[in-house]
Amino acid sequence: MSKQHAGVILRIYPGSLAEELELVPGDKIVSINGQELRDIIDLSFAMADEEIDLLIEHADGEQEMISFDKEFDEELGVEFESAVFDGIRNCANHCYFCFVDMIAPNMRGSLSIKDDDYRLSFLYGNFVTMTNMGPADFKRIEQFHLSPLYVSVQCMNPELRAQMLRCKGAARIAEQLDNLERAGAEYHTQVVLCSGLNDGEELERTIREIVARRPHAQSLAIVPVGITKYRTDPFPLEQFDAQGAARVIDQVEKWQRKIQQEEGRTFIYLGDEFYLLAGRDVPPSDFYDGFPQLDNGIGLTRNFINDWEAAPDQPDVYDEPVYLDVVTGTSVAPMLQKLAASLDKENLHVRIVPVENDHFGHTVNVSGLLTAKDIMRKLDSLSGKRTGILIPESALRSGEDVFLDDVTLQQMQAHYPAARVEPVQGGKDFRAALSGWTSYHKDRSGETAYTWQSNAGYTKNIQY
Ligand code: SF4
Repeated sequence: MSKQHAGVILRIYPGSLAEELELVPGDKIVSINGQELRDIIDLSFAMADEEIDLLIEHADGEQEMISFDKEFDEELGVEFESAVFDGIRNCANHCYFCFVDMIAPNMRGSLSIKDDDYRLSFLYGNFVTMTNMGPADFKRIEQFHLSPLYVSVQCMNPELRAQMLRCKGAARIAEQLDNLERAGAEYHTQVVLCSGLNDGEELERTIREIVARRPHAQSLAIVPVGITKYRTDPFPLEQFDAQGAARVIDQVEKWQRKIQQEEGRTFIYLGDEFYLLAGRDVPPSDFYDGFPQLDNGIGLTRNFINDWEAAPDQPDVYDEPVYLDVVTGTSVAPMLQKLAASLDKENLHVRIVPVENDHFGHTVNVSGLLTAKDIMRKLDSLSGKRTGILIPESALRSGEDVFLDDVTLQQMQAHYPAARVEPVQGGKDFRAALSGWTSYHKDRSGETAYTWQSNAGYTKNIQY
């Protein structure tokens, strides 16, 4: 078996079966009960047996067979280097709007992976285009009940989809969705909306056809295309402006009202960016039907506000003035300003610091793609007292104290010796930091964070 096809153990959970079996990080799981494993989906099915023959390859290349009995629902308790042991499936497309192609040269490798792997869609909520999927994949989806999946639809017009994805096979979107439905899978869908391309009448058609696919289709998210200054694709793309965003909101609201009347839920959600761009309030919580596409960034702003409103004020009394700089992307700065202003705390001075994204270009306005260099450039340009600096945790690599440009949180802290630098994730943290700065400290160990993924979405990192 090739090196690729074994599950390499990264971490052993304390008190787990794996610890009892004396497995260590670096060990590879080669097979279970003679069955080779393609990914953690195979592993979890193989581990459903009560009698296990586990073939391990140790770091020195020695193989060992470990046989043991277990409860049928007992898990190994390990984390793997990758959830897919036979390698991530790459995408077969060259989309006009591919964000991976717009990443600055020299950025971290993990940001440049063009994955299009239905297994990662099932496991982590990554969006897939299904252009690289064949009958065996749908058979496996049916056999292993891999549902729901997350599908990047973009548009239902076959010719336009093939054109936008620069992939002939992309025209088969309706057929592939039919295959998914026949395999018994439900799916959430996404449209990356490009002004003048798949909006207007094309969006109307896409919505109509996806809506008709309920209940297999569980939701439809529409997000505006993001463009960085590194985009070299010759096809001209434009980002939405305030009027364009307002037009999309008005168009989609008609559908939302119709579906609300039909089945009491919204089903179609717009990326927060449309509301922020158009200068409109984000919809209320119940509009989001439990936030099915929160990991895709849909409803993050409302969620942030909810968390803020639900969180208690900390009882800290500030005897001395506290000066906090709140670093943020430009799009949500007004919302943070509003929330901070609603807090009535003596001696608390909050300054919202919207940072222009020089690294990716000023059209990129989200907090999660800010680099440490841009943040520090902005902070260095400001005068005045500073007790603390709040940075958006989404700008840090998941589970690590490292920014996108490889600057560490510690390096940033060393640059500002007179102020304490603390990451903040969500409205609860934000309120806790502002109202209880003296005791606020964010312990990031074991955090489940959002990371940017290839098809302009955000995905949550989970562990097996
Ligand atoms: S946007 Fe996604 S599917 Fe399209 S080329 Fe980029 S990685 Fe591939």
